[in-house]
Amino acid sequence: MLTQEQALDIYRSTGAVLKGHFKLTSGRHSDTYMQSAKLFVMPDQAEKVCAALAEKLAEAGVKADMVISPAIGGILMGYEVARQLGLPNIFAERENGEMTLRRGFSFEKGAKFIVTEDVVTTGGSVKEVIELVRSLGGEVVAVASLVDRSNGKVDFGVKFVNLISMDVVSYEPEDCPLCKEGKIELVKPGSRTVFKK
Ligand code: ZN
Repeated sequence: MLTQEQALDIYRSTGAVLKGHFKLTSGRHSDTYMQSAKLFVMPDQAEKVCAALAEKLAEAGVKADMVISPAIGGILMGYEVARQLGLPNIFAERENGEMTLRRGFSFEKGAKFIVTEDVVTTGGSVKEVIELVRSLGGEVVAVASLVDRSNGKVDFGVKFVNLISMDVVSYEPEDCPLCKEGKIELVKPGSRTVFKK
């Protein structure tokens, strides 16, 4: 199995570890951004990382019927982890701001789920997917992520299995030293939108 350092090396080698001044999905600012989409540009590399996570899930004794992930970040990862585990895979997406199942996705009551998300910072989207699964009569047995940026601080109330756990400093916008310095432009990496503060 890959060690955390080996997994991180793969992230770096695919250009998925960005340095600069970033606005995270949570709204916080950071000098580091894990752009997992870059990892999935290289399917052979993504396969290795997701296989290691699938192994870790098995080691942790996680037994599930299905994999679900929040769009968009978790979709590719969910697919590959589900493929490794031999499980069906669906994803949840927002409609009018609410996490929901579209595209004819459904499941039987009592189905056990692994929720996958590429990078967990505050875990907001994952928590919404957990609520969605429960509201539809499913059970969430574990959360799995490639990167836990909270370094173990996020509590989902279920097993949380991740490959890379790191403590990346992030700031509320008003406390951000990069904003105060004003030298590096703030970007939202997902969309490449440049924000004026
Ligand atoms: Zn900032």
